[in-house]
This record gives sequence, C-alpha cells and structure tokens, in this order.
Amino acid sequence: MHYLDHAATAPVREEVAEAVKQELMNGWGNPSSQYAIGREAAERVASYRATIAKALGGKAERLYFTSCGTESDNWAIRLALHQNRRVGKHIITTAIEHSAVRALCKELQGSGYEVTMLAPDKDGVITAEQVAEALREDTALVSMMLVNNELGTIQPVEEVAALLKERRSAALLHTDAVQAFMEIPFSVEELGADLVAVSAHKIGAPKGIGALYMGSRIKNPQALLYGGGQEKGLRPGTEATAQIAGFAKAVELRSADLQRDMLQMHSLKGYAMEQMEEMEGVELLATGATPHILPFSLVGYPSQNVVTDLSEKGIYISAGSACHQGKASHVIEALRLPKKVAAGALRVSFGPDSSKADVDALLEALKEHRKSRFPML
Ligand code: PLP
Repeated sequence: MHYLDHAATAPVREEVAEAVKQELMNGWGNPSSQYAIGREAAERVASYRATIAKALGGKAERLYFTSCGTESDNWAIRLALHQNRRVGKHIITTAIEHSAVRALCKELQGSGYEVTMLAPDKDGVITAEQVAEALREDTALVSMMLVNNELGTIQPVEEVAALLKERRSAALLHTDAVQAFMEIPFSVEELGADLVAVSAHKIGAPKGIGALYMGSRIKNPQALLYGGGQEKGLRPGTEATAQIAGFAKAVELRSADLQRDMLQMHSLKGYAMEQMEEMEGVELLATGATPHILPFSLVGYPSQNVVTDLSEKGIYISAGSACHQGKASHVIEALRLPKKVAAGALRVSFGPDSSKADVDALLEALKEHRKSRFPML
C-alpha cells in the first residue's frame, strides 16, 4: 500500500494504540469520581492536557477538549460572535476555509451576519492587506486558517493578529490550525490568534478528539454544551480519556521528531515536484510552503477517476479535500484555474513514514492512467 493522503487522516502508530489500550484497560475510571481510580484518571487527563498545550506553546488551562476539529472551529466562531455581540455582525473569512468554517459562515449569513470572503491569489494565499481593507468598526470576527488543507499554503495569521492589534480592533481572530499542528512549528502565543482549533486524527491519534485553545482576550467564553462540570462546564460530557491519552502520545512522538520529519517531507515533496515538472500533462497547482501537502493536476483527466484508478493499484491520494465527496472543491474553484486543470486537481499529502518508493509508485500510476484513459474534451 502507498498511502499518500495524510491530510485526510494519518495512520495510528503502535505506541499511540498502546497508550489508548492502557487507558481503556487500566485507566477506565471516570475523572469526575471522587475515589482513587477517578482521581487518578483526572490527574492523567491533566497531564495529557499539559502535553498538548505545551506543544502548542500555550497554557494548559486555556486548552479545551472537543470531539474533533470541526467542533473546535464551530465553537470558536460561535463564542467569538457571542463575546463580540455588541461590536457588530460583520465577519471576515477566506474563500479557501475548510467546510467546518465555511458552512457555518454560510449559515450565519442566513441569520443576519454579513460575511466578507477574501479571495486568494493564484498561489492560494490571502494577504494581511486584504484583511486590512475589509476590516470595519463592526467586524466581530476574522477567521483565517493557518495551513490550507488542499493547497498546503500558509496564511499570514500572525500578520493579521498584529494588524488587529495595531488598529485596536475589537474583532477576535480565529484560526483553523488543523493542518498546521505538528506539521509546521508554531506557538499560539507568538501567533497571536485568540482561538486556535486542532484535531488529533491528522497526526496519528484516534478519531473523535480535538481541542480548542483560547487566548487571553477570550473572557467568560460561551459554553458549547450544557451539562456537568467537565472542561470547566463549557464543554461538558465525560472526558474521552482513551482518545485524549492517544492524542497526547501522538503529540509527544510528533514533537520529538518535528524538525527531522519536516526536513524529510520537504525533500520528498521537492523530489515529487521535480519529477512532476518533467512529466507531460501534469501541472503543479500551488507550491505551498508546508512540507506535507502537494497539489497538482493531471490536466484534463477527471480527478475522481484518477483517485479510483490509483486506489485499485493500492495508491491512495485525494481529489482535493476528502470532505467534498465528489463535489467540485471550492478551494480549487477559488484559484480560478482553466476548466481542464481544475477538473484534474489532485492532492498528495505525506506523513513522517512516506518514502521515495511511494512517490515513484504514484508517478508511474499517473503515467499509466494518462496512457490508458481518454481525457475530457
Ligand atoms: N479543518 C481543516 C483544515 C481540515 O483539514 C479538517 C479535516 O479535514 C478539519 C478542519 C476538520 O477536522 P475533523 O475531521 O477533526 O473534524
């Protein structure tokens, strides 16, 4: 198998599975229980929270567990708008956000919010100047992802944070860092965003766990759910202790090797790009600065067919984001590419264990696909 779709989800490492199993079998107490096995579970959750917060460059008490990146994004946006309800109903976001942000912004548009959606340039980047131009007195929220999941481009979140500060804007800044966490180094403190959303399954931890980091400008955050006192009563529900243990273990493993993994993926991506530049009928779409994501097009060959054909050969890649399930991707649309280039848009995404053999198998299969299929007219 040649798995080149790590931005969709990442394989779980042995050590992570072991940490999950330990928690399930030996640490199954309820962290809210007063007796020893409960107190011990609560202590372990506190230490897992500290591990993840440290890797984010933040404070444990500001990190809240959720069930996934989507939930973190949704909560962040809703609570920012609630906190800034007297500031206004204007939102600034980008045309290339993940649907976890985009779909909610569309929903908010239908309920009285005005949404300015900034378009990327041809390389898939939005500038801080565009945000500066769109910013108004009544802007309550700016939502800009840190790394785009389809293009691998890094957005200027730190610059936008500095801009909001300089303008003394009341607008809160949310960033979806799902594709950035443990892929590129960043710290929530230096980034300056008020709300940072991350997800565990993208870094080799179990699905069903994510986190939201809240910076110091978040005052009395609005609860996402109502119930018991877990997550300070803001996101109640018995803690998913085993998933949290797996999340912390994956973070621990990834952060120990982050620099090495980045260099390795960067050079693998460089190799793939060089080969693709030489290949007939292949166009690189954005040279996105992240080491793990490479978007390209097999021009004129519908991407869904390529994905299916390659999967039959044991090569797993993606037609844009896995969340689109066959529909044209709004991210690719936002690049305003010629029709045949857009139709053939594909994404490969690497993980720490990806190899040159995976890339060679991919290149070979792409060549075969071109030889054996008819392009669209
Ligand atoms: N944001 C980005 C940029 C993503 O790539 C994804 C997953 O594809 C999400 C949010 C959603 O994360 P989750 O699958 O944990 O809900």
